[in-house]
Amino acid sequence: MVKETKLYEALEVDPGCSDSELKKAYRKLALKFHPDKTGGQTSERFQDISHAYDVLSDPQKRTIYDQYGEAGLSGEGGPGGGMGGLSPEDLFSHFFGGGGGGRGGRPSGPRRGKDVAHGLKVTLEDLYKGKTTKLALQKNIICEKCEGKGGKEGAVKTCTTCNGQGYRVMLRQMGPMMQQIQQPCGDCRGEGEIINAKDKCKQCAGRKVTQVRKVLEVHIDRGMKDGRKIVFNGEGDQAPGTIPGDVVIVLEQREHERFKRTGDDLYYNAKIDLVTALAGGKIQIPHLDDRVLVVDILPGEVIKPAELKAVMGQGMPTERHHDFGNMYIQFEIEFPAANWTDLSHIEQLRAILPPATPLPELAKTAHIEEVSLTEMDPRQKARAEKGHMGDDDEEGHGPGVQCAQQ
Ligand SMILES: [Zn+2]
Ligand SMILES: [Zn+2]
Repeated sequence: MVKETKLYEALEVDPGCSDSELKKAYRKLALKFHPDKTGGQTSERFQDISHAYDVLSDPQKRTIYDQYGEAGLSGEGGPGGGMGGLSPEDLFSHFFGGGGGGRGGRPSGPRRGKDVAHGLKVTLEDLYKGKTTKLALQKNIICEKCEGKGGKEGAVKTCTTCNGQGYRVMLRQMGPMMQQIQQPCGDCRGEGEIINAKDKCKQCAGRKVTQVRKVLEVHIDRGMKDGRKIVFNGEGDQAPGTIPGDVVIVLEQREHERFKRTGDDLYYNAKIDLVTALAGGKIQIPHLDDRVLVVDILPGEVIKPAELKAVMGQGMPTERHHDFGNMYIQFEIEFPAANWTDLSHIEQLRAILPPATPLPELAKTAHIEEVSLTEMDPRQKARAEKGHMGDDDEEGHGPGVQCAQQ
């Protein structure tokens, strides 16, 4: 029975845990609570973790702690008693930077690994209703067999060619000048260390890391937008002496067949017949959940081509869930085909519809020329439409890009 468990609790381990379990627990928690990950402040938690590991990783101190609790430690005195001279940060860099046999001129303290971004395609329905989805990634973790050393204890040697730097400085003649260039060291392939082939860790082949499949659970909240980033702290590749970067999931909304989204609003294109536009009727809009909105167009409302109407509160949920955007419906009026009715009915239409605006009276001297409308063939039509879109360079006249394109 141990006297106290406080230090074990700080590392979230059992009092009976092994040395390697202790190391693993410290690695995990120290990375999580390292000041680099918590905004630069050395938190109390980080100090507690460091203190606990400092004591429990030393067999002598651990025995004393197990028998007498922390009181026993403070009475121990002498060099290395309790926290000794090692600050939490020093312990951290000692732990993460150590083991590799000294990496020469590296600045103290661990580097931070790269963040990795992954796109995640989502539907507008997912963003409307919210969804939890699983995403499998390959990532490097510190090899469990060699604990990131790459080989047996003592098998890892500092490269003598580059003094553990991983690169060599070469001089190169550039015209009249000598230029200094850095080249990765060929003997250690830029690693700064050499491990004999026979001593390499079997599990990772000396690479210190192994690749595993990691499944992340991504929570897509209602109302999230295209381009939204969801950050998984510290889930990036692990490497010895490095604080893992983050995995950043970037939502990519697929085009939707019915709706376009702008902010929290939805845009819907509704095709209605001329008779509905004039005499009223209903349209149905399947929403992003399982509802179908039935929209009433009132008789006599007279919907005009391209007219925009709103259905309030039927847009996307806002991300904070308190509100909804609007749905805007843009109407497209389907006119009847040419000659849809017997000409004898035309007079009835004239009688019903508001009268046409009379033409202005022409001066007696005006020169009048009667012309008629012509149906164009598709090529003529395409060309005419192109001109209408703002290409006002006249066809066949003068120089210009237009001619070259023909
Ligand atoms: Zn290994
Ligand atoms: Zn080298």
